[in-house]
Amino acid sequence: MSVLIFIDHADGHIKKAAFEALTYGADLARQLGVQAGGLLLGTVSDDLAALGKYGITTVHQVNNEALNQLDAQVQAKLVAQAVGDATVLVFAHNQTGKAVAPRVSALLKAGLVTGAVALPDTSNGFVVKKSVFSGKAFANIAISSAVKIITLNPNSYSIKTAEGTAAVNQLSLTPDVPKVTVTAVNKVSGEVPLTEAEIVVSGGRGLKGPENWKLVEDLAHTLHAATACSRPVADSHWRPHHEHVGQTGIQIAPNLYIAIGISGAIQHLAGVNRSKVIVVINKDPEAPFFKAADYGIVGDAFEVVPQLTEAIKAI
Ligand code: FAD
Repeated sequence: MSVLIFIDHADGHIKKAAFEALTYGADLARQLGVQAGGLLLGTVSDDLAALGKYGITTVHQVNNEALNQLDAQVQAKLVAQAVGDATVLVFAHNQTGKAVAPRVSALLKAGLVTGAVALPDTSNGFVVKKSVFSGKAFANIAISSAVKIITLNPNSYSIKTAEGTAAVNQLSLTPDVPKVTVTAVNKVSGEVPLTEAEIVVSGGRGLKGPENWKLVEDLAHTLHAATACSRPVADSHWRPHHEHVGQTGIQIAPNLYIAIGISGAIQHLAGVNRSKVIVVINKDPEAPFFKAADYGIVGDAFEVVPQLTEAIKAI
């Protein structure tokens, strides 16, 4: 028995969500009294042996550059082949995990719980807690299959490190020929990927038009943050759709979410209410977002935001 953690990566580097999954998987392995290993499909420039500091003993790698492009069918088949004696597989609940984990589940006939927010309760079976109804409630789901699969919600589990080195084991598995050919990759705008960001600065219709987005971008740049927006902003083509957060957009859980000129409709909150700290800037003191805010500034964004940016720069 062991726990196997899928190590997601992009542009030659392991993603933050994968470090969370590694820490979670290693803690789960300790709880079960078994060992934890990682599985990396593709190539990265990061030191794989150093991943031992997250608590895993071995990193299995299929060292093939073709796997740096996500093809969920190809990757799922390799995961199913690499599973070895693992009885629990852990993925990050991100784009890759959401695409690969269900396919592995089908291939292995393994029970799957997506979006876990805590370690499973293994005192009597295997019960995984996940958030449901856009973060408004929790469900505890028991998995009874021999192999169990969990995807871990981003920012639900703190990354921990300790002294340790992992053995690196090259797997000689040959990926299938992909059925999808990637002809071009268009990098999305923004300095920090939205789903990986610790801090997100987000703008709504209160910003009046795309010409005013420099306000959001300057603050984001100062904080090394990603930028996001409400749905009407994306629908009006003020900002690209990949920045739209909410029930019908991306769901994020950064450490700090700064909402500027956003009313705080329930559909918007559904995508951001797992943020650790929420700061709301709105000129209407009755704006619903203030009820969900940790800190609120009642004021005109066009006055408040430049002052805030300058004050942060001065620190
Ligand atoms: P508004 O509601 O127009 O709010 C603008 C805010 O800016 C106001 O609170 C106003 O007081 C403030 N403001 C104005 N001027 C200033 C100023 N100068 N300084 C400071 N504040 C100012 N929305 C999403 O965001 N994400 C979703 O995923 C999503 N999914 C949806 C799904 C469904 C099925 C439906 C029906 C709706 C969905 N919506 C979603 C839309 C949602 O209901 C709201 O309409 C939307 O979030 C409102 O966007 P907003 O806050 O930017 O704009």
